[in-house]
Amino acid sequence: MPSFVISEKCDGCKGGDKTACMYICPNDLMVLEPNSMKAYNQEPDQCWECFSCVKICPTQAIEVRGYADFVPLGSSIMPMMGTEDVMWTCKFRNGLIKRFKFPIRTTPEGQANAYLDQKGKDIEGPLLFTEEIDGKEICDPDPSQLV
Ligand code: SF4
Ligand code: SF4
Repeated sequence: MPSFVISEKCDGCKGGDKTACMYICPNDLMVLEPNSMKAYNQEPDQCWECFSCVKICPTQAIEVRGYADFVPLGSSIMPMMGTEDVMWTCKFRNGLIKRFKFPIRTTPEGQANAYLDQKGKDIEGPLLFTEEIDGKEICDPDPSQLV
């Protein structure tokens, strides 16, 4: 099920230029209705249920149905983001509530750098840096094989 905004909980991100859900959606699906100041998914068919808007919404106003491989069918699932972990609250069909927490990072917020160990590598070269690490080389073509 695509993202769904619970209008009673949405405060339009307090009237900022761009709401959090508009900023984060990788498919530019979220829009803000300027009169009601409520957000909505303008094209639900295009939603790939990535949970990004659900996680970033500061008022927990967006729901996406949880996949059956991590929550029981028919339950609702809502994340609460922290700087170190995310707390998931799962409400089962019978009203039972369970919470589980997962760490979300191993480096301090804002300091992750995927290229830190890649200093000095030839990023302009034809090899991917993973190929460079694996010791691959570009072979010169055999001129006799060229047409
Ligand atoms: S992020 Fe949440 S509160 Fe902000 S506009 Fe979107 S749904 Fe509303
Ligand atoms: S679940 Fe992902 S794709 Fe769907 S509206 Fe939210 S951010 Fe966009």
